[in-house]
This record gives sequence, structure tokens and C-alpha cells, in this order.
Amino acid sequence: MESLIQLLPDYLANQIAAGEVVQRPASVVKELMENAIDAGASKIELLIKDAGKSLVQIIDNGSGMSPVDARMSFERHATSKIKEKEDLFNIRTLGFRGEALASIAAVAQVTMKTRRHEDDLGSEIKIEGSEFLSQTPCVGSTGTLISVKNLFFNVPARRNFLKSNPVETKHILSEFTHIALSHPGIAFRMEHNDTLVYDFPAENLKSRIIRIWGMDLEDKLVPVQEETPYLSIKGFVGTPETSRKGRGEQLFFVNGRFIRSSYLQHAVIGAYKDLIPAETFPLFCLFLNINPVHVDINIHPTKSEVKFDDERGVYLLLHSIVKKGLGKFQLIPDLSSDEELAGIIRAVPFPKENHEPVVGKSTTRDSWNVEKQDIGGWEKIYQNPAGFTSQPSKSPSQSITQKEVNLIPEDGFLVQLHNHLLLTQVKSGLMIIDPTLAHQRILFERFLATSTRPPVASQQILFPMTMQFSAVEMQIVESAKSELRHLGFDFLEINSGSLLLQGTPPEVLPAKAEMVFKEIVAELGLGEAERSREARFEKIAAKLAEGAAHKKGNRLDISAARALTDDLFRCNEPKFSPKGKPVFVVMPLSSFSTHLLSE
Ligand code: ADP
Ligand code: MG
Repeated sequence: MESLIQLLPDYLANQIAAGEVVQRPASVVKELMENAIDAGASKIELLIKDAGKSLVQIIDNGSGMSPVDARMSFERHATSKIKEKEDLFNIRTLGFRGEALASIAAVAQVTMKTRRHEDDLGSEIKIEGSEFLSQTPCVGSTGTLISVKNLFFNVPARRNFLKSNPVETKHILSEFTHIALSHPGIAFRMEHNDTLVYDFPAENLKSRIIRIWGMDLEDKLVPVQEETPYLSIKGFVGTPETSRKGRGEQLFFVNGRFIRSSYLQHAVIGAYKDLIPAETFPLFCLFLNINPVHVDINIHPTKSEVKFDDERGVYLLLHSIVKKGLGKFQLIPDLSSDEELAGIIRAVPFPKENHEPVVGKSTTRDSWNVEKQDIGGWEKIYQNPAGFTSQPSKSPSQSITQKEVNLIPEDGFLVQLHNHLLLTQVKSGLMIIDPTLAHQRILFERFLATSTRPPVASQQILFPMTMQFSAVEMQIVESAKSELRHLGFDFLEINSGSLLLQGTPPEVLPAKAEMVFKEIVAELGLGEAERSREARFEKIAAKLAEGAAHKKGNRLDISAARALTDDLFRCNEPKFSPKGKPVFVVMPLSSFSTHLLSE
């Protein structure tokens, strides 16, 4: 009888497998860069053309391959990284499935040149759509160069499915930056259409983060480091003021590999509870190292998701380690910028939150339960009502978390201290408000609200002023032109490098208009070029609010002070300034009890 079942021809099998590994040019970038890292390269260069659609080229100075290995490397399931079954449970390299090169070669035109240090001649291989074209000896430096041209040239449906160049470029940039962040000791370079995009020397993690995420982070990265027998964690988390709207800058690497995990993100975000405004996210770049026997990286073809054998344990550890890191840096809300107030706070035995290391070097897995209680203060209370009565929780930041009712200042008492801080009373104790930050918050929300209304009428400047800008700055102004005008700036472009400023938003004094405008442009320049209108609007509104708010030393009469607190507590997010600084602190009555209060 004739048999119906047939083995797929190789090229077809490869093309099908390629569907899993190679989704877009960025997948090629990722696989080839990972191979270069696995090959021990200390310098890796990426050149792309047309968002990688016409060319992705990687040049590394790694080990190179012998001519025989070079040929073998394109076979499916050909890998030098796993030899026996046990190796599968002890993977230390980024690749191991032996599928990437075969998959890429199935859907593109590939040239590889490679030479080992010990060989005089290297080898050049050409392969197209899984069809082996040639292998010839060649000269070249030690390492490997791979060019991947015209991705999906033989699968038109997939080629048509690719997104626009900006979108595909964005995917490539994110793969590139993830890999560059996880290997700061390796030098990386990237060019797109012959223009230099990145050039990183070998450096430490902190400077790599700053190079990628922005110079403004210089003093805003908190180091995190902890080793336990189960897991070690190190990296940096941003101070609360660096929290942002997007989740783009929340990176986890498990054993050197970038992974996505909303579960672990949640663990970190939880450590910032009450430190950052709602709906903003802290930035972080954290490296988890765990014995490979405890983690399965094979659950996803592109290995971007992993499974731990003790997910809850990792969650709890991560949470408490980040919390401890933040605690060490005293990043609990206080107004310590004001020296005198800081003095008062120090004089009062202000109970701090318990930042004792929850997880010490000797942590065993049996101690998860203990940690669980340490983490959830409320959980502890519920599990142990007796603990509640004998040891009431009285940390300042916890009282702030209690229902908002407690925050609304009660009528009556309101004074200004040293022409600056406002003191008032709330149900649970004494509230200290920074009027500058409060005013910023109020103005910020007012400016934001105009977003959906007709443009703000601008206040004309008597003597319009000329402002000079660089070409890049002019680009920034151009891209944010409509938001700037909407918020009340009135300006004309006079020539390629200068603007005439004729009007400002009503809240900004004309004398400050130029400075505020320039600050806005600088601020916008720090972010990615293509923000949404909403994001641009928000950045401009925040800067405007900063420029227009009362300054320190501004004496407020009682009615102005009262209006300010009223307005503040009518805001959606009264607790934080637009930049995420705490606007006020509450010192609970209980915190005075040992020194000042009668029974
Ligand atoms: P994997 O990385 O999973 O082993 P690949 O298909 O990506 O599978 O690569 C196959 C093999 O080719 C690797 O195991 C490695 O031995 C070799 N190889 C690939 N790229 C390079 C490179 N840039 N330098 C040296 N060897 C390489
Ligand atoms: Mg690989």
C-alpha cells in the first residue's frame, strides 16, 4: 500500500522552524549577537540597512570557526554548546538549540566569513534559502562576519508582514540595547544606513546604563546587590524621581539573558509602594543569577520567558532585596532638603520602616515564610491579630498609605515656617507641605487639563526676543510645535537656527519665558525622539509647572496658603510633584509619643 506520510524536505522543515526563531530583522540581530557573545567576542559590531530588511551584518572578534564547523553550523540542530542530555540542565551559553543559523539561512541570503586565530586562512560560505552555494578559503581577521541579506526574500507573505522601517528599527534597537546592557564589558558599535547610532567602549554596568538611558541618571541609580544560596541579584534601580509613564526601562536578565516577566516586575514595583505616583513605573536593570537547574529557559522558542521552580520564592526575594536597596539610600519620603526641618525630624525619634536585611547570606528556602510576613505588613496583622495590638505599625510611610481621608487637612491650624514649609494638622498627626512642589502639582494638572480643550491664549511679550538653537534643538521644537503653541507659547521661526518668541503662557513671567522655553527644549531632547503627543504634552506641562510655581521664600498669606492646600487636595495625585517628589509628609502623632505626649 502506498504510504501517505513523508518526511518534509530539509528546506521546508527549516523554513517552518524559521517561523519560530526568525520573526523579524530584530530576531536575526538577537541570534547573531548572542552567537558572537557565546564565541567570546570582546567587540561586536552591527550594521543594518533599511531597518534590517535589506541587510543585517554582525562582525565579531570571537573564536571563529574551522572550515568544517563553519559548514556544520548551518545544519539544523547543529550546536557546539550541548553534547549530552545533562548539558541541557546546565546551560551557561545564550544559544543551545542549534537552530538559529539554519533558520536564518532558510529565509535569507547569507554570507559568512570566519577564521580561527590558529588558522592562516579563513572560510567563506554562501547559502541562500537553505541552498548551499559555495565555500571558499578567504583572508580576514580572527572572528566571524555574517551578512544576512533580504530577509524573507523567498517567503513574500512574511516579508509583506513586516512593519514600517521605524517600527522594525525600534525592535532592533531594543534587542541591541538589551544585549549591550547585559554585557557592559563588551564593546559594541551600531550603524544604520551608514550612520553611527551607538558606540560603546567596554565599561561597567552603571556607565552603560547611563549611556543608553540618559546622562540625567548619573546620581539617580541605586545599586542593588544580594547573594543567597538560591539566587543572586545585582544591578540598579532608579530613585523614585526617575519613575516614568512607560514600562520600557524595566529589564530583567536571568543568567545573562533578557526575559519578560510581569510577575517579577510586580515584585519590584511593589517595593516602591508610596514612593512613586500611581501609574508610573520605576526604571531598573536587574540581573538574576540562578543555578540553571532551578530555571527552565526552554519554554519559549526565543527564550524570552523562563520558569523558576520556585516562582513565589523568587518574587519574595526580589521584592525584599529591592526594598532593602531603596531603604539603604533613605529613599523614604522626607523633606531632608530643608536643613532645619531635617533637624526637627532627626530630633524626633521618627520610627523608620524596618529596612533590616530580610534576606541574609544564610537564607535557606525554609525561610520564605518568615519573609512573607516581613513583606506584607498587613498580611502579618491579619495573620496575627495579637501582633497588631502589642506592636502597632507606626512607620510614617505606612500612615500615608492609610485612607486618603486622613490626608485632607482639617480646618483651622495652618502656618508657614521660614517663608517656606506649610504646617497643618490631619487626622493622624502633623502634615508638612512643601508649597513649591504643591504649586507645581496644581499647575501641572491645570496645564494637562487644557490638552483636550481649545489652545490657551498666550500673553504677548512687549519686546519679542530672539532665541538661538542648534539644529537638533530646532528639530525638537519642530516636533513639539503644536503642543508648545497649545500651551500658550507663541513663536516664529526666523531662520534655520533662531526663533522669535512673541508670547508665553499666562502663568509664566515674560522675564522667565526664554529660560523656561529653553529648559523645555532640553527636557524634550532627553527622551526618545518619537514620543506620543500625550507624552510630549506631559513633559512640557511638567517643565512649565516648574517654571511658573512659587519659589522657596515666597511668603504666603493665610488665604493664599489655604487656597493652595485646598487646590492641592483637589488634585488627582496630590502626593507627588510632577517629577515624582513627595509633596508632603505626615508625622503621625504616635511618632511623638515616646518624647512628647502625655498618656
Ligand atoms: P546555537 O547558538 O544554539 O548553538 P546556532 O545556529 O546559533 O546555534 O549556531 C550554531 C553553532 O555555530 C554554534 O553552536 C557555534 O558553535 C557556531 N557559531 C555560530 N555563530 C558563531 C560565531 N559568531 N562565532 C563562532 N562560532 C559560531
Ligand atoms: Mg545561537
